[in-house]
Amino acid sequence: MMQGVLTLNSGSSSIKFALYSMEKEPTLICQGEYEGLPGRLHFSAQDTKGSLDDEIIHDKADFETALRHLLDWIKKSYSDVQLTAAGHRIVHGGERYIESVIIDENILKYLETLIPLAPLHQPHNLAAIRVLQILHPTLPQVACFDTAFHHTQPKLATLFALPQHFWDEGIRRFGFHGLSYQYISETLPKLIGEKAKGRIVVAHLGNGASMCALKDLKSIATTMGLTALDGLPMGTRCGSIDPGVLLYLGSAKGYTNQDMTDLLYNKSGLLGLSGQSNDMRELLSLKTPEANEAIDYFCYHIQRELGSLVAALGGVDTFVFTGGIGENASLIRQKVCEGLKWLNIEIDETLNLSPSSKAIQISKAESKSVWVIPTNEEIIIAKDVFKLMKA
Ligand code: ADP
Repeated sequence: MMQGVLTLNSGSSSIKFALYSMEKEPTLICQGEYEGLPGRLHFSAQDTKGSLDDEIIHDKADFETALRHLLDWIKKSYSDVQLTAAGHRIVHGGERYIESVIIDENILKYLETLIPLAPLHQPHNLAAIRVLQILHPTLPQVACFDTAFHHTQPKLATLFALPQHFWDEGIRRFGFHGLSYQYISETLPKLIGEKAKGRIVVAHLGNGASMCALKDLKSIATTMGLTALDGLPMGTRCGSIDPGVLLYLGSAKGYTNQDMTDLLYNKSGLLGLSGQSNDMRELLSLKTPEANEAIDYFCYHIQRELGSLVAALGGVDTFVFTGGIGENASLIRQKVCEGLKWLNIEIDETLNLSPSSKAIQISKAESKSVWVIPTNEEIIIAKDVFKLMKA
């Protein structure tokens, strides 16, 4: 029997999974996704050779239906694989968890207290753990945190200018997308050697978007804060906003806490500005003034946040794009880099347009180096599970 590890990234409407075999190091067996939760459930899976399955499997499915299907499907499709553990992407680890941990009831209870800090993600991340506990009670489960990678930030970068007791209580700038930044930081030395230890800014641009400054391959500053709302505008999240706006909405417009949560997490960002879509691919095809303005706002704020991170680093040697938008939207990369000549960052048009599923350098010869690197959060989870299981 081959030992297998399942990785799960559970959101409000989808569950992404990957199955790895555990030999000397994790090797991908297959990966896939459940979409359309709760409701009409679309299941798809691929291995390195191509599609394995792509079908609607249920008309009214919930989380449990999906995970039950997944366990059965793995058993049926890979009778030679024995699941030895599952690893979950957990968005918030709070001040307690700076590395991955094997989950127990105490840990789960603590992570549940963080739900208000990540209402879009944490409840679903944790629901998957609870459901898996019921479906497969003996399976060890590991939590891998998006906040953990940023624990190397100096305290100054994690402070808000509030009375100090708030920091002591955990009201700090944590930062997110850590599994993605971890992957980039492990990949860079293979691509650029010693230069990887230099001043690097990574832009993780997906539905959620953030940027991170790396020095010596460690996070020293990032655009997100206590929650995944701060920094760049995102699909439906606002990014940085004057806190006075919220005070005003509360006092003068009668917004409740729930109204503000809904506004800032679900109705803002690209969707709010365009009034049309939260999806970058769709916005790029719409070409309406509203869609264009949303795109411009997105690129303008990437440039501004880059300036801030470059200041924190004292300069920049390498700039990296990753995430669904960073990896695929050449026009966004072009628009962002058009404004960066002052940093000696210029990309080559042809390289920027060349499609690639592998990491590629897209900068001009005389420019600071600019890379597009496809991220892989699953392999980081699988490696951590592997390490913890061995120990
Ligand atoms: P998540 O944060 O949910 O993991 P992804 O990293 O998959 O999201 O990124 C999703 C975003 O990437 C969407 O806005 C989507 O439109 C965008 N995207 C994916 N492919 C392309 C493409 N070819 N061109 C432009 N945008 C793309």
